[in-house]
Amino acid sequence: MSDQKPPTVREALQAGARKLTETGIDTAALDMSLLIAEAIGLDRMGVYLNFDRPLNQTERQKIRALFDRRMRREPIAYILGRREFHGLTFEVNPSVLIPRPETEHLVETAIDWLKEFRSGVQTSVCSGTPVIADIGVGSGAIAVSIAHAVPTCRIIATDVSPDSIEVARRNAEKHGVADRIEFGAGELFEPIHEPLDAILSNPPYVPETDRATLAPDVIDYEPHAALFSGPDGLDCIRELIAQAPRHLKPGGLLLIEIGAGQSLAVETLLAQTGSFQSIGFIPDYAGIDRVAKAIKR
Ligand code: SAM
Ligand code: GLN
Repeated sequence: MSDQKPPTVREALQAGARKLTETGIDTAALDMSLLIAEAIGLDRMGVYLNFDRPLNQTERQKIRALFDRRMRREPIAYILGRREFHGLTFEVNPSVLIPRPETEHLVETAIDWLKEFRSGVQTSVCSGTPVIADIGVGSGAIAVSIAHAVPTCRIIATDVSPDSIEVARRNAEKHGVADRIEFGAGELFEPIHEPLDAILSNPPYVPETDRATLAPDVIDYEPHAALFSGPDGLDCIRELIAQAPRHLKPGGLLLIEIGAGQSLAVETLLAQTGSFQSIGFIPDYAGIDRVAKAIKR
């Protein structure tokens, strides 16, 4: 065996990607390149630039250990302990939902609104430092991205999961915005005791009945409290919409991420409160209404 040549980066990549594909993972080559990069201390470009480099035994063992986790369908973000979102790197672990690209639509909409707020276009809202709530902060993807992009705002971030608040707090510190985000553990608005200029939320919205349709990567690893919300997925959204008017200043913004096919029901819920004007929806890149937007009268 000793005269056998050690496998190269290319060979490990090809063999690993083939096995991941066979288990039904459709991002196999990408995933394998990320795992190899992590194991040998390079970035992904480094992997491609070192295709012919032989792997020593320690490196092969490290790759194997990461590969075995992915074969069991553990998400890449949990294996690496991080995920990119809105241009920032977030620490993640199984106590938080892995930030999704769709949620960047909510972040972008909020940032645009806050820019108008600063330039005085939102005349009905008090001027000065906008106070924003992020309900269900998870990893901090929304709160930290917005605090990072809009240096004048203050954010109150809540979650029912104290573990996720710890992760979000570390992400706020890592990106230098911890002094502008207050964290509170509790149900929805429970930890909030001041009027808000904006309420942002990516609540759980997956219908319980969709359980069987979710990929093992999601259902077996991500926190169910971050995903499911009653038979139609709308339990949390219903409560958010019912309670939001009491917490928003006149002219204040409400943004809620929603699931495919929920916009009609959400529009009705918003209209029924009688508290909102300009109710609308922002589509994601797939054309699905992804963010509900409403302004408090
Ligand atoms: N904001 C993060 C993001 O966009 O990636 C996480 C969103 S995740 C879909 C929903 C979060 O809401 C989870 O962290 C969950 O613990 C939290 N959550 C669920 N029900 C809640 C409730 N009633 N009150 C506050 N937070 C809740
Ligand atoms: N987009 C997530 C999924 O489909 C759900 C996130 C949520 O419920 N807010 O897995």
